[in-house]
Amino acid sequence: MDFIQKRIKEFAEKRRGNEPEGTETDVQIECPSCKNMISRKEAAQNYYVCPMCDSYFRVRTNNRLRMVVDAGSFQEWFTDIEETDPLDFPGYMDKLEGAREKTGLKEGVTVGLAKIDSQDCVVGVCDSRFLMGSMGSVYGERITKAVEKATELRLPVVIFCCSGGARMQEGIVSLMQMAKTAAAIKAHGDAGLLYIPVLTDPTTGGVTASFAMLGDVILAEPGALIGFAGPRVIEQTIGEKLPAGFQRAEFQLEHGFVDMIVRREALKGTLSYLIKNFDPAKDREHFSLDFTQDIPEAYAPSEIMKERMAKGMPLTAWDRVKVGRNLDRPTTSTLIDYIFDDFYELHGDRQCKDDKAVIAGLCTLAGQSFVAVGIEKGNDISQCQIHNFGMAGPEGYRKAMRVMKLAEKFNKPIICFVNTSGAYPGKDAEERGQGEAIARNLYEMSALKVPVLSVFCGEGGSGGALALGVANQVWMLENATYCVLSPEGFASILWKDSKRAAEASDVMRITAQELKKLGIIEKIIPEYGGADYDTAESIAMYIRDGLIEFVKAFDGQSGAAIAKDRYDRFRRF
Ligand SMILES: [Zn+2]
Repeated sequence: MDFIQKRIKEFAEKRRGNEPEGTETDVQIECPSCKNMISRKEAAQNYYVCPMCDSYFRVRTNNRLRMVVDAGSFQEWFTDIEETDPLDFPGYMDKLEGAREKTGLKEGVTVGLAKIDSQDCVVGVCDSRFLMGSMGSVYGERITKAVEKATELRLPVVIFCCSGGARMQEGIVSLMQMAKTAAAIKAHGDAGLLYIPVLTDPTTGGVTASFAMLGDVILAEPGALIGFAGPRVIEQTIGEKLPAGFQRAEFQLEHGFVDMIVRREALKGTLSYLIKNFDPAKDREHFSLDFTQDIPEAYAPSEIMKERMAKGMPLTAWDRVKVGRNLDRPTTSTLIDYIFDDFYELHGDRQCKDDKAVIAGLCTLAGQSFVAVGIEKGNDISQCQIHNFGMAGPEGYRKAMRVMKLAEKFNKPIICFVNTSGAYPGKDAEERGQGEAIARNLYEMSALKVPVLSVFCGEGGSGGALALGVANQVWMLENATYCVLSPEGFASILWKDSKRAAEASDVMRITAQELKKLGIIEKIIPEYGGADYDTAESIAMYIRDGLIEFVKAFDGQSGAAIAKDRYDRFRRF
């Protein structure tokens, strides 16, 4: 071995990432994080996560594939793209050769066709051991070709991202890979197909600023470093130390850029679920249902529920306002739990935050996928604090819209749950465009090409409620209210006396019964004597049965007709 080769090998070994080395199963390896010794076999069985400190080791390509795709299903594509040296960069070819020798890979990303739980998909796996997973022209070409081929074959794409950024030795040509991969993903998305990047440690630089951040759903591994500028560069620039956890997956989730942080043992199941339920629509012009399991039998209320219901609730409008604000009323998450067989929550507005006042995600009922979006209030004070008392900021409305757009892309019906005293009247909410966010939802929801049902569960305050209420039908729980302003606010504006709220609630016509007469809503949902923990399930079952009927009425209709139906509904007022 000549001197240069030897140096390359030494250098490569120094930088070989932190996946513990060794081939024999009883080889003891050191956890790079807690420094405990574990056997290689134990590491493999534990998905390359340290059993002592739970830190995630970086994973080699073949191990990644083994953990996620069906055994024997991976067929590698595009292995014959020749390396280029566009800048004639001194020593670059030798460096590539060294990386190949060290990793057994031809490039920093491997792409191909695979199956995940018997479902075909195109998979890409980046490997940080290969020149830090840096993106050069062959790397970019492999991803682009794989995405293009996926578009042609109408298959979903899953890419395990990890990269130090652009490959410096290829200069500006490396930069162009960002635009090239992004363009391929845009065409794939426009064809109605699913793309899921899985962000692993580290995903930085040009990869973050291109294909890693362009997923329909973005998953990340716990603790992964995800960012554009590296932490060292930021610290040098701003002259201060970054806080612990800065740019980690959890930070990105909180800031709205990651949908879910998924543990390795759950990764295959999560990908499988998303691929199954965000399947490409066979006919993109028409809405269609696909209940693959038996639709549950219609709910019949028990004797206890009948008795409760028979007692009735002779309530004034003001009584209903007070009842509608009760904390033990079923929340959005409770209703989703009862109505659907499962729920995969998606997070973030992709702009700055994950607003916990709004929850949104994918769920199924008898095999048919739905998208559920709702304002979450919480059932006790501590939950209310987490969910900001059900007062969403612009980030919450933007998250809702983003997830509703996914529903439209994949031709899935939408159900919204509304329970809010109003949009959050805060300083930061105004700074980030509360009005714009609500307006945008009205604008976009009006034209969604899939059926939208909106259920008002408690308070329905003003624009903050309407922002999830531009639906083909609006239903209300028996004691829910829907108004332009709280009765207190109304009394204080009109009569300069907020104590006249009871009187205001009478004249405002805010109850479900009055609103049905006015044609503002289509259906009143019985509360079986009052919505609380005991009646939540019955209420949910009533909604479930109605929801099934509701979506069936749209089966086979064109997206344009569904949007027109909604347009006409609001045009009447
Ligand atoms: Zn450890």
